[in-house]
Amino acid sequence: MIEIFRPDVYSKSIFDVNYKKLKEKGIKCILLDLDNTIAPVNIEKPDNKMKKFLYELKEKGFHLIIMSNSPKKRVEPFKNELELDSAAFSMKPRKAKYMKILKTFGYKPEEVAAIGDQLLTDVLGANRMQITSILVNPMSKKDGISTNLNRIIERMIIKRLEKKELFERGKYYD
Ligand SMILES: [Mg+2]
Repeated sequence: MIEIFRPDVYSKSIFDVNYKKLKEKGIKCILLDLDNTIAPVNIEKPDNKMKKFLYELKEKGFHLIIMSNSPKKRVEPFKNELELDSAAFSMKPRKAKYMKILKTFGYKPEEVAAIGDQLLTDVLGANRMQITSILVNPMSKKDGISTNLNRIIERMIIKRLEKKELFERGKYYD
């Protein structure tokens, strides 16, 4: 049961993910969480480092889509600045928006990966959809209000995963 929270891949940050391996696995599309995955929660626009990095990722042939639970007004500046497709108010870990994205762009679950900093939304949502789930450490210690409770539950889940030796904080794998 608790296995549903185990990320398929665990990387230090979005910059450290083994994209070559994803490519070899047949991943064509990457769903990017916004808050604390591509920018800290209090930052309103992507910085140049992230902009350059995501541009290069696109050049490698990945279709990048911002998929955030945040409202449109939060997501829009990133969508525009990074020139990416996006889905706001996604209600991860619910399946509906994932299914809509897959249908809209014609992807099978095995062709999609999702990168995010939360077990309860990003990882659980991806695992439920059987798309490759990639956990990264949050970019900052500060979370959005709705995330604070999630983090408490997340800590309990991590403890249980650690007990079963399924996951250990800081022990990265791909
Ligand atoms: Mg996040």
